[in-house]
Amino acid sequence: MGTDEKLTSCWERVVSCCCCCCNASKQEQDRRLDTKDVRIITNPAVADKGEFDTNRPLPSPPGFKMPDRERYIALFDYSARTADDLNFNTGDILEVLDSRAGEWWLAIAITGISVNKRGYIPANYVALLESIDAEPWYFPGMKRQDAEKLLLAEGNEEGSFLVRNSESLKGELSLSVLHEKRVKHYKLQKLDNGHYYISKTKSFPTLKELVEYYSRQPDGLCVSLGKPCRKIEAPQTYGLSYNTVDQWEIPRNSIKLLTMLGAGQFGEVYEGVWNETTSVAVKTLKPGTMDPTEFLGEAQLMKRLRHPKLIQLYAVCTMEDPIYIITELMKNGSLLEYLRKDKGAILRITDQIEMAAQVASGMAYLEQQNYIHRDLAARNVLVGENNICKVADFGLARVFMKENENVYEAKEGGKFPVKWTAPEGIHDNKFTIKSDVWSFGVLLYEIMTFGKMPYPTMTNMQTVQWLAKGHRMSCPLSCPKPLHAIMMDCWKDNDQERPTFETLQWQLEDFFDMDVTSYVDSARY
Ligand code: AMP
Repeated sequence: MGTDEKLTSCWERVVSCCCCCCNASKQEQDRRLDTKDVRIITNPAVADKGEFDTNRPLPSPPGFKMPDRERYIALFDYSARTADDLNFNTGDILEVLDSRAGEWWLAIAITGISVNKRGYIPANYVALLESIDAEPWYFPGMKRQDAEKLLLAEGNEEGSFLVRNSESLKGELSLSVLHEKRVKHYKLQKLDNGHYYISKTKSFPTLKELVEYYSRQPDGLCVSLGKPCRKIEAPQTYGLSYNTVDQWEIPRNSIKLLTMLGAGQFGEVYEGVWNETTSVAVKTLKPGTMDPTEFLGEAQLMKRLRHPKLIQLYAVCTMEDPIYIITELMKNGSLLEYLRKDKGAILRITDQIEMAAQVASGMAYLEQQNYIHRDLAARNVLVGENNICKVADFGLARVFMKENENVYEAKEGGKFPVKWTAPEGIHDNKFTIKSDVWSFGVLLYEIMTFGKMPYPTMTNMQTVQWLAKGHRMSCPLSCPKPLHAIMMDCWKDNDQERPTFETLQWQLEDFFDMDVTSYVDSARY
């Protein structure tokens, strides 16, 4: 069967799904309709390797009209992954020639290491020159707790600072400054005329002017502003390169497998390199683990789910066995192994709650997208640098089930991770985002116990019977009571009484909330 036929048939399969099991909304079904538009193109970056003249203008698509050229500044370093990409460093100026693709733009370098060369750049690595987004101290989406962590990290010095959106007051900004190894926060307020101020005695038409002023003298701040806070890591690009955004199936020979990271019942996971340039994780599926057509259908949906707390699915190789699933690589492996290895040696309660909040954040996105994970557990969360956690394997449970540690038990043809599955999943085969919330409660237990098996003294069958009598796991040792209360909310019998992931996210993020009280009072000076 040709690829297009394969995609069409998997599209038909998805549409004909009854949706009582996947809880698909109109919005999701509309999104599924989009899967018809999938284009399979060959990868010139691979086919044409070595013969590409980086100064040669790339051909314009038919009907292309040159837009007003806008200049952008690079916020991060980027190493070209294909012969069609541009190398650039933070601070380089780039003129965008075509931004219609959305996620990868065609640009010409005005300054820096690729000056006068043309090529593709990831759009989320640059900001419009002279805009607030281009300021190295502007971290709009950063939470107060993350700002503290980042400013206290290596590489920052007295006076290092950033400006972020305030969590407590929507639409307002906060300034976070490192002073004597502690972080102080100031509210940046606005007058009716739009001017910014920290102290009402001195206001500024723009944030830039405010920052410049307080860089020259503290004038009441704990210290004058020094260097902008260091950015630790560049964001994930959308897909591997400009042409894999649409080109879902990539040539198998563009992937080189390096070391094995882990092995499951369904196959092995390797660290790999794509196109000899880009580190990736490669899941290899044992032949017969799943139907490639079924998998491709699900993968089309999974690929569209993009969030900083979800593992990004980059590409697949499904033309021959073993099927490869190519995703972003996470340095520290699964959360379960990470917790079990640490056992509380380094990780503190604040880290544990922060990790749980990250999982809730990824799940809140899936909730918003009307997507169901179906197998949420610490083994399916991956950890990167600085305890960054991302939810993995979302949706895969629909197409296959893993078997390990007796976690999954056969039930009417399917296999269930019994101790993580909500009662309605066990008894009625009913899976919704609310059954994911139940699983999240169990995951929270795993986090708080550094990876203990839930219901440690019980078999799967005993667990199901025990839960049916209304029992729930008690508060683990050294787990704060309010956290156990959150678990108990997740384990409510009536699924509608369980919290949303959005609520869980803010409950966990605000767990140590001192946002309002920890601000320096501007009235003091
Ligand atoms: P899995 O088969 O998904 O349970 O993966 C087996 C093991 O491979 C996990 O426990 C991880 O240690 C590792 N692994 C899976 N995916 C990745 C990834 N994207 N990055 C790094 N390690 C991974």
